[in-house]
Amino acid sequence: MANEYDLIVIGAGTGGYVAAIRGAQLGLKVAVVEKQKALGGTCLLVGCIPTKALLEHAHALKIVRQAKEWGVTIGDGAVGIDMGQVHARKDRIVGGLTKGIEYLFKKNKIDWIRGTARLTGGGGVDVFEGDRQTLRARKEIIVATGSAPRSVPGVEIDRTRIITSDEAVHLREVPKSIAIMGSGAVGVEFASIFRRFGSDVTILELLPRLVPVEDEAVSAELAKSFRKQGITCHTGARVTTAKASGDGVDIEAQLADGTAQRMRADYLLVATGRGPVTSGLDADRVGLQIEQGYIKVDAQYRTTVPGISAVGDVITLGAPGHPQLAHVSSAEGVVAAERIAGQATRPLNYDHVPGCTYCDPEIGSVGLTEREAGERGYDVCVGTFPFGVLGRAKMAGETDGFVKIVAEKKNDEILGVHMIGLRSTELVAEATLALRLESTVEELIRTIHAHPTMAEAVGEAAHAVHGAAIHM
Ligand SMILES: Cc1cc2nc3c(=O)[nH]c(=O)nc-3n(C[C@H](O)[C@H](O)[C@H](O)COP(=O)(O)OP(=O)(O)OC[C@H]3O[C@@H](n4cnc5c(N)ncnc54)[C@H](O)[C@@H]3O)c2cc1C
Repeated sequence: MANEYDLIVIGAGTGGYVAAIRGAQLGLKVAVVEKQKALGGTCLLVGCIPTKALLEHAHALKIVRQAKEWGVTIGDGAVGIDMGQVHARKDRIVGGLTKGIEYLFKKNKIDWIRGTARLTGGGGVDVFEGDRQTLRARKEIIVATGSAPRSVPGVEIDRTRIITSDEAVHLREVPKSIAIMGSGAVGVEFASIFRRFGSDVTILELLPRLVPVEDEAVSAELAKSFRKQGITCHTGARVTTAKASGDGVDIEAQLADGTAQRMRADYLLVATGRGPVTSGLDADRVGLQIEQGYIKVDAQYRTTVPGISAVGDVITLGAPGHPQLAHVSSAEGVVAAERIAGQATRPLNYDHVPGCTYCDPEIGSVGLTEREAGERGYDVCVGTFPFGVLGRAKMAGETDGFVKIVAEKKNDEILGVHMIGLRSTELVAEATLALRLESTVEELIRTIHAHPTMAEAVGEAAHAVHGAAIHM
């Protein structure tokens, strides 16, 4: 006899566990099948949380190294980093948060079934590893099986010297040198972590600029700051081969000017993107439409098979560029669960998804870049204000970066906000709300920004759009 639930969720990442909680809140009887030993998926176990914990450690080291400047006396001992303590603290944070989800499951009477699931059709789910059992969904199944690192031709990941973020996050030593393929969020965050820990870091990016999805001005500022920090960046560089031997990796790359570059590093971190996880699900057999490995869904996260929905990193909405972000998967999980529980839902606006990159200096952005706004035919105007002018930035000793607002002339509407510098990943929340409320530049100007804060740069950038920043 199958165990029956209203909703069965496969995968307990930020997409799946949030969908499960929302469904249970709305009165559904919910089970979640998760094959890992802990709940939380990529974000909690090897992604957002452990990487940002490592970045906080690296930041602490940076401040201690500047002790003299801050007037802090720390004796004559050399300043270093104890990786054992770093990992112990990081693991405590991760462990506490995964236990927090277990608590929420208990509170909401959600059953966690430990095992690997496959779809059997007609609402059926077969748990074929772990707690083997057959389940049946009375209303719906949500597939939230997420993504995994992937490589590129010519580079075989051995998980020892040629590694992915899954291994980098657990590295017990500070490498003398590390090469990083790819300068998306994962690549530049690890570049900041290892550089601050003391490694020689080289970034090899295929496209012409760092963080290629960001506004071009942000990419240029990051490149400038990375150069100052001693991170070597090759853009327009194609890695042709990488071979692990002994205690390092031999890498060959073709640089932007066509010359071949050979280098050796202790590690090569492959950060060239992530691919969907559908293996073992039997997605084909039940008839799910798959596009380039991703499960095709509509704006309500329904797949092409009635009774099966999908959310998070594993989906495509048809157009390229579905953001693989924790908060996107959670927002999709909420919409899917509410629809399944019978509530009216509205599609998400993917133009209003904030993106945060926690490198040094950090990046926050939402909405259209200047180039994208131009391509969509808007009559664009921009305003930029540098953080370096602000008292708060000077006090923190973090004066790099700026806020840039992209707006359209006719209606004064804000189309995008892009920032790089201290606290940008927090400041972007104001910009996200402004876009959500379809605010004008004038409304942002009239919003009182507290002093002294980094947020003053948002108000000043709005003034700058109208050609009149106060402190410039
Ligand atoms: C290094 C790194 C840093 C990141 N930092 C950020 C960040 O700062 N902010 C941000 O927004 N995003 C970040 N991300 C991205 C974020 O982690 C993902 O977008 C998010 O985790 C996707 O959630 P998901 O629920 O779709 O999938 P996942 O989190 O991948 O969860 C899928 C779950 O499904 C389980 N599963 C798969 N198949 C089966 C099966 N057949 N049966 C049972 N269980 C199964 C897996 O074990 C996994 O637990 C980062 C990613 C990485 C790699």
